[in-house]
Amino acid sequence: MVRIAEVGAGSIAESLELRIGSRILTVNGARVRDGIDFAFLTAEEELEIAVVDPDGTAFVCEISRDPSESLGIVPARDKIRECANECVFCFIDGNPPGARDPLWLRDDDFRLSFTYGSYVTLTNLGPRGLQRLVDQRLSPLYVSVHATDPEVRVRLLKNGRAGQILDQLHFLLEGGLQVHAQAVLCPGWNDGAELDRTIRELYALGEGVLSLSVVPVGLTRYNLNRPVRLLRADEAEEVLGQTESIQGRALAERGKRWCYAADELFLIAGREVPGAGYYDDWPLLENGVGALRDLLDGFERGKDRLGPVEGVERVRLVTGTSMRPWLAGLAPVISRRMGCPVEVVEVENRYFGRTVSVAGLLAGADILESVRGSRRGDLVLLPGTALNDDRVFIDGTAFADLAGRLSPARVRSGYQVVETLLGDTGADEAAATGSRSGMAIEALVTVAAQSTGDAAEAAHGPVDGAAAGRTAP
Ligand code: SF4
Repeated sequence: MVRIAEVGAGSIAESLELRIGSRILTVNGARVRDGIDFAFLTAEEELEIAVVDPDGTAFVCEISRDPSESLGIVPARDKIRECANECVFCFIDGNPPGARDPLWLRDDDFRLSFTYGSYVTLTNLGPRGLQRLVDQRLSPLYVSVHATDPEVRVRLLKNGRAGQILDQLHFLLEGGLQVHAQAVLCPGWNDGAELDRTIRELYALGEGVLSLSVVPVGLTRYNLNRPVRLLRADEAEEVLGQTESIQGRALAERGKRWCYAADELFLIAGREVPGAGYYDDWPLLENGVGALRDLLDGFERGKDRLGPVEGVERVRLVTGTSMRPWLAGLAPVISRRMGCPVEVVEVENRYFGRTVSVAGLLAGADILESVRGSRRGDLVLLPGTALNDDRVFIDGTAFADLAGRLSPARVRSGYQVVETLLGDTGADEAAATGSRSGMAIEALVTVAAQSTGDAAEAAHGPVDGAAAGRTAP
């Protein structure tokens, strides 16, 4: 059953007098379990929709339409499926006490995987659930594999069903679906020979496995060493070697490198991030794979557009500890072109603890603590990845409030440095409406990916090594 959340003006639904809050039970006799069922079943031209209105009156709507004509029914958000695991590195366990409610959601929902690209483990799906994925062609899916050895995966996910992953992937691939796989690397658990095996066995599944990204585990002060520890630099270096070991073969056989290391692995290893060619067609940019290269290359492409801006006497680039050296490298170029001092403000993450260094997980309170001494003439750039769709930081601080507290400085957030400096981002206007100070609040810059509202925010998880993005379970 789905509930109607909105009825489009002038739509078929409006002409049928369908009401917000009505329940849709079946379409052409098939049960409607959720929004994806509804979209799938209503693709037909001839429809019989069984509805119960908010007063409890049941009726059937018969519709004949051109498939390009929208019904005008927006279903309410589905209840999110929660996970059946107790992963040893679970990002939920890394939340501070008192964190906002959405951050406690242990989601593992294939619908979010299909619509937002969040990763799922498949442990909460039986044969019928997998068949549904195939029947409705929900592809590509993003699957947290972590390890293909059944015993290792069961230990990691603390779920007896976790060992079925290769059989499940076989089933999905034979059904014609495609999969992006992910391994969150936990030293001593699924690295070394286990990672070699995972890479080998996933590659052997064939071209339906579109990619494998390897991401270092992210831990906060609340779950560090309980029981998983962080990757050391030498271990990150070894993992990089393992990911590269398959790339030559994959390039020759499949025309792409296939196995990609997340940006964080390069940062931990103290290595330069690779050139754009490493990332092929950037399949996992939003998963923290290539975001840093994208940022640096975007700056190179756009830097000639920078020049003095009236009223800007100082630029302050706010970021997390891992990005500081990279932004420090850009600062002199910005300073020369804009004709004013440029300062990088490194924010220590007190909210999650120092082990969390990515810009995308900075709390508003920590930013306020670090960006002291704001004055008129300042242009403060904040990482756009640190904000969700409601323009709220992970600790619940609203962007508009933070910008108001930094007044009279101008504050922006965004994803690309040049565009944000120039105020080219659409986020500027959205922020301006919420400004506490009433001044034009603009948006800011950052390093990587996206936030997609609270449900997906929880799905992305606050402690994955990558700078936000598709790295949850
Ligand atoms: S990491 Fe994800 S799948 Fe694992 S226990 Fe936590 S919420 Fe569940």
